[in-house]
Amino acid sequence: MTAAFDALMTITHRPETVFLRGEGSWLFDSEGRRYLDFVQGWAVNCLGHCPEPLVRALAEQAATLISCSPAFYNAPMVRLAEALTTASGLERSFFANSGAEANEAAIKLARKWGGLRRGGAHEIVTFEQGFHGRTLATMSASGKAGWERLFEPKVPGFPKVPLGDLGAVEAAIGPETAAVMLEPIQGEAGVVPAGDGFLRELRALTEQKGVLLILDEIQTGMGRTGSLFHYQQLGFRPDILTLGKGLGGGVPLAALLAREAVCCFEPGDQGGTFNGNPLMTAAGLAVLEAVSAPGFLEQVRETGARLSAGLERLSARHGFGAVRGRGLLLALELGRPVGPALVAAAFERGLLINAPRPGCLRFMPALTVSPAEVDEMLRGLDEACGALA
Ligand SMILES: *Cc1c(COP(=O)(O)O)cnc(C)c1O
Repeated sequence: MTAAFDALMTITHRPETVFLRGEGSWLFDSEGRRYLDFVQGWAVNCLGHCPEPLVRALAEQAATLISCSPAFYNAPMVRLAEALTTASGLERSFFANSGAEANEAAIKLARKWGGLRRGGAHEIVTFEQGFHGRTLATMSASGKAGWERLFEPKVPGFPKVPLGDLGAVEAAIGPETAAVMLEPIQGEAGVVPAGDGFLRELRALTEQKGVLLILDEIQTGMGRTGSLFHYQQLGFRPDILTLGKGLGGGVPLAALLAREAVCCFEPGDQGGTFNGNPLMTAAGLAVLEAVSAPGFLEQVRETGARLSAGLERLSARHGFGAVRGRGLLLALELGRPVGPALVAAAFERGLLINAPRPGCLRFMPALTVSPAEVDEMLRGLDEACGALA
């Protein structure tokens, strides 16, 4: 099989395994091995692998209308826009095909708004260790370690401040500032919460200064932290919100939502060939309906509490550090750089987990993961830790 892999550019180190099939929390490879999946396509498959409502929505829509050009309205696009604006309290939406593209659109919207409403302001204050995607502008907005000198020159206009430091944000906001942009919980940094208090203070500060607040909820949105959107736990609305990952339940779909007063795109400013296509937006509708069903989010919070408590016990047994995060976006601080070795040992035991940094593990199972599967993952991880020691 190895030679066949050479036709792909090496963009990451992958195990020499080919996955063929998925079902719920389980993945099956070409050798017939099964894996308990706590990565789920990078927090993407919020309903697990090949969930029935998503499969049905895709099959029905594929047989009805796949694409009809972004120059026309289509039925799922209109319905999903209506459902998301109702759920979020933000009046308008724009669909994209990846999180980075949604954030790129958010940056453009904020820059245009700054140009029109704030005397040409174009800067967006962003945060150290933040992650917003892999286009040049979203890389520039990110504060990911190791990216400082990659693909230079970067796009200018993204001053960085430390997360949680309100004074630093205030000092960074000037006449050139159009917006402040952040993840409510930094996902790729290792599930680092901005802190609910900090987020509320930041909302007040941005309002007082007359600049926009952009929340990147690509990882935290769609039920991941126990509410449909994380900001609903904070009691305020952002000006601009981006969604991705879980929104499509496994297919490429992302969205930009914004308050009416901020929406200043004019025809021709923004677009994209596949944006808002009926096949993907039909998938989004199926996901949104499932996540909004009575009891769904309550179950996310309960399963999250079970996973969190189990990780605390495991941490105490093996001398690791704190458990961070909320709902089913959790991380275990290891206190030593054994993350990659643990991920490999877990893989050997048929368990998929992720180490976003060498010193921590991240858990982002399907939101539909069962308590028994959580317990099974904890047992497998415990074994992997034992094998490593
Ligand atoms: C994954 C992620 C992105 C980028 O999304 P892509 O679909 O990979 O482009 C942006 N922001 C956050 C917070 C993410 O977790």
